[in-house]
Amino acid sequence: MKEPLLSLKDLKVSFFNNSGEVKVIRGVSFNLEKGEVLGVVGESGSGKSVTSMSIIKLLKGTGKITNGEIVYKGENLVNKIEKEMMKIRGNDIAMIFQDPMTSLNPVFTVGTQISDVIRRHQGLSKTEAKNKAIEMLRMVGIPSPEERYNNYPHEFSGGMRQRAIIAMALSCEPELLIADEPTTALDVTIQAQILELLMELKEKMDTSIILITHDLGVVANTCNRVIVMYGGLIMEEGTVDDIFYNPMHPYTKGLLQSLP
Ligand code: ADP
Ligand code: MG
Repeated sequence: MKEPLLSLKDLKVSFFNNSGEVKVIRGVSFNLEKGEVLGVVGESGSGKSVTSMSIIKLLKGTGKITNGEIVYKGENLVNKIEKEMMKIRGNDIAMIFQDPMTSLNPVFTVGTQISDVIRRHQGLSKTEAKNKAIEMLRMVGIPSPEERYNNYPHEFSGGMRQRAIIAMALSCEPELLIADEPTTALDVTIQAQILELLMELKEKMDTSIILITHDLGVVANTCNRVIVMYGGLIMEEGTVDDIFYNPMHPYTKGLLQSLP
């Protein structure tokens, strides 16, 4: 049988505060096949972001993986040192963070931030990296990318900023993109455009995607399979049709009923 691109096996994550250990991810397992768009849904606080940050080992604060395996292309990432993880983040697994300010630095131009990422990971010259960054900006639908290259993040609209963040994430042609609520901060019409863009790029670049969202409508339009999280556990997993038309778990039924 073909090996999945990514496989989480009984992942547990805790945070540690003054009064001790807070278990936040309590045993999460799933597979992601190459080419798949896997939706991760669940209410706020259910553990979607912590799970995704565990995969690239960028847990904040006192977060620690206490159990399990994260197998990417046959290799367990859990025990990899930071230097190896940096390489993986640069070449294999890219992430779009829930908070857009985590991705773009306000004091540097959008273009230089993208070309810096390209230079760091692909060893291109300054001019080559700049040209590639402009190409990426063009590809994500930024008008006049040669001029826009020199703009600062605040000179972009919210939708344009998100396009630039997608350009940055995809500039290293990752095999896996983890997008954590990539459209939550945007107006509804812009949300649809950004999702459409992501799906177009997915086809073009053959990227597999983990799409975290609390929006079941988004899942219905974009995902092959979906995982439903609650309280740090996976409540249910299935095809989009399974989950929408034949939910097994009471929590999923409730989630569907709460749809507008
Ligand atoms: P979601 O993305 O599904 O909304 P998160 O993964 O962000 O949820 O959070 C899951 C749980 O982990 C929540 O209870 C949250 O309070 C806790 N948590 C997240 N980040 C931290 C942190 N840096 N320190 C302590 N607890 C955290
Ligand atoms: Mg989150």
